[in-house]
Amino acid sequence: MNGIELGLLTAIAMVMALFDAVIVKWGAEARTRTSAGVVLFLAFMMIAMIFGAFLYFSSPSSSSLVEALWVSSAAMSLSVFPLVYLFVREAARQMREGATFAPARIEHRRWFGLTVVASLVLNEFLMGVTFQLASGLSAPATGGAVSWIAFAVNSPWFLFPMSIEMIAAAILLRSHLPSGIRIIMIAQSTLMVLAPPVSQNPNWVWFSTVLGSAVMIGIVIYLMEYIYRHRQLVPAFSSYVLALMGVFGIMMAGLYVWLVYGEGFVFAVAVLLEMSIFFEAILAPDRFGEAPAAPWQLRPNWAFGLLAFIFVAELFMGAALDVVLLPGAYLGAFPTLPLAGGSATLLYNAFYNGFWFLAGVSGSTWFLGMMGIEMGALVVFKIRESISRENKIRMALMLGSYAIFATFFPSVYYSNLFPNALSGTQVPVLGWSMGLGSAPIVPSLFLVIFLTYIIFAVTAVLFGRRVVCSVFCTAPVMYQGTTIDTMKSFNRSSGIGHKYLGSRLSSLYSATAGVTMAALVGVSFASYFDQQGILNVSILGQDPSVFLFDLSFSVGWYILFVTIPYVGNYNCVTMGWCYTGLISGAFQKLGFFKLKVRSKEVCRTCTTVDCTKGCPVGLVDMPGHFRTKGEFRSTKCCGVGECVEACPYGNLYISDVRHWVRRRLGRPEVSPTATRRMAGTAPSISATSPALRSASTGPPYGLRPLPMFDGRSPPLDR
Ligand code: SF4
Ligand code: SF4
Repeated sequence: MNGIELGLLTAIAMVMALFDAVIVKWGAEARTRTSAGVVLFLAFMMIAMIFGAFLYFSSPSSSSLVEALWVSSAAMSLSVFPLVYLFVREAARQMREGATFAPARIEHRRWFGLTVVASLVLNEFLMGVTFQLASGLSAPATGGAVSWIAFAVNSPWFLFPMSIEMIAAAILLRSHLPSGIRIIMIAQSTLMVLAPPVSQNPNWVWFSTVLGSAVMIGIVIYLMEYIYRHRQLVPAFSSYVLALMGVFGIMMAGLYVWLVYGEGFVFAVAVLLEMSIFFEAILAPDRFGEAPAAPWQLRPNWAFGLLAFIFVAELFMGAALDVVLLPGAYLGAFPTLPLAGGSATLLYNAFYNGFWFLAGVSGSTWFLGMMGIEMGALVVFKIRESISRENKIRMALMLGSYAIFATFFPSVYYSNLFPNALSGTQVPVLGWSMGLGSAPIVPSLFLVIFLTYIIFAVTAVLFGRRVVCSVFCTAPVMYQGTTIDTMKSFNRSSGIGHKYLGSRLSSLYSATAGVTMAALVGVSFASYFDQQGILNVSILGQDPSVFLFDLSFSVGWYILFVTIPYVGNYNCVTMGWCYTGLISGAFQKLGFFKLKVRSKEVCRTCTTVDCTKGCPVGLVDMPGHFRTKGEFRSTKCCGVGECVEACPYGNLYISDVRHWVRRRLGRPEVSPTATRRMAGTAPSISATSPALRSASTGPPYGLRPLPMFDGRSPPLDR
């Protein structure tokens, strides 16, 4: 095919795409049966036309050209009859009814929409196949429908016009779409262009994988922040974004399968699904503005679906980025036992593959980098909203720790320092890792493991477990961003989360913590004796302590993260299943860290107890301690300081070794400029917090709550 032919084909494809976009617009605006008939007629004409071209290009010859012209002309002619019938019927009715005549409305709007969607999908599919054949490519000789679908859809002739058609449709219907959904729709349409399976060219695969991932990350960040600022969602919006994230999950899985196995069918199916949900939604744009909106925080199943779909998409996106950007380290690195043999072997191998794939990807360079960008962006939004300087600094340190310990050390520094070390090798103390389980326990590691726990213990005694659980660990970056932090409401509303509320170490908590610590001790000895040759044990083919580490932080953590709507936020802390957190919590109990109030009296008269609503680990009993003792200690408190921000009187502060030193020096614990006196009635969190106040529309960034203070200090009553 020469340049002129290519240009001509491109121009035809673009014109057809834009005409399809106009059909979509007319379809969305059609209200009467006749207008719906015209839309379906035009869609059918497009199909008939492209089908004729398909007949010709599938076997080009003069006879097939004649045959193609006959078939498409006949199809077009026949399609006129139903339309003419519709018009004649309406005209007859108009004559009968005279002045009272009103055009017949579309009765089954949903079926009309689905028919238009099916026509568009068929049209685009035929276009993909026909233009591929016209550009000189051969049709797949084997593989049946699966190969044909991949051949038609994973082609520039399908994806590029489709993307233009979707963007054009969103622009044409912009006045019908609320801005949030319009932005998401245009971004998802752009994503169609960035489909790696369009070409085998390595530069294209690299470029489209990276840029496509960046666009998808942008969509997820936008969506998460949107639902943070719009707590009430209309059903059309919530169903749409759920379906979209589900399709993104399939698409990323398809991309991974294509990159590793060269099979493009799953990706193609995801593209067809994405296109279908887009057109189905945009053909009824007014639904996005319909009431009643419902609070998504009261819909745990929806929130779970959203988190689970986003996680699946990110998991496969991380794996795809790993194999594209670091093929030497990751291509072929994820385990694949054969899915064959008896049912027990088959089940074991499937579980083994799934477990180590999840563990391998979630600890990999690009997955962690991508999650850092995505969840880190939500933390940055949170920092902008935060009113406490100490909390802003903590969150900035938390982001820095994530960048250094989750990505730089394990992925850059160690690989340069120890080029022969296995990918993902962690060194406690120097790099983020949770002590035991970072590697099999051999005597040469004793010192470094010991140092790790010394650091955990000393910092927990001096500053509380927040050094680990709110700064060093990767977990708080995921928990602390605007949207996920909002999910702390599930600590109260979910059945399981509710059982772990409060600072009391319930029997359920004790059981979880007991099993966790017993497992840690057990696997540590097993690992050590295994390394000494005294025992010969492994779990799922891996050293026992390394297995527990991966089970806790690479597999279990993510499963419990997506199930936040059922088990509550910060569940590693609330449920006590993280051994590092448990150890840090125990040392915190012995140290200086506690929450203190400036005035017990203020807490006694406080009716809103907003501090408990701000707490992401559900320490609902703290006001009682403030009222009686003026302070509160709990091994579960991980020092995120949300309660400090939530208290509308500015009555609360975190006290650690620095405050103890000040006291010993005879100076006030908190600087006078940081203390403010309540004046009049306190505003409640729902009236002051940007987070909660934004339930329906949301404030612009930078808006700060304005508690009613007069700037002077209350008397410290201790
Ligand atoms: S409990 Fe464990 S996983 Fe959770 S924040 Fe603390 S150290 Fe991290
Ligand atoms: S919100 Fe403030 S004043 Fe009210 S109980 Fe909590 S710390 Fe005390």
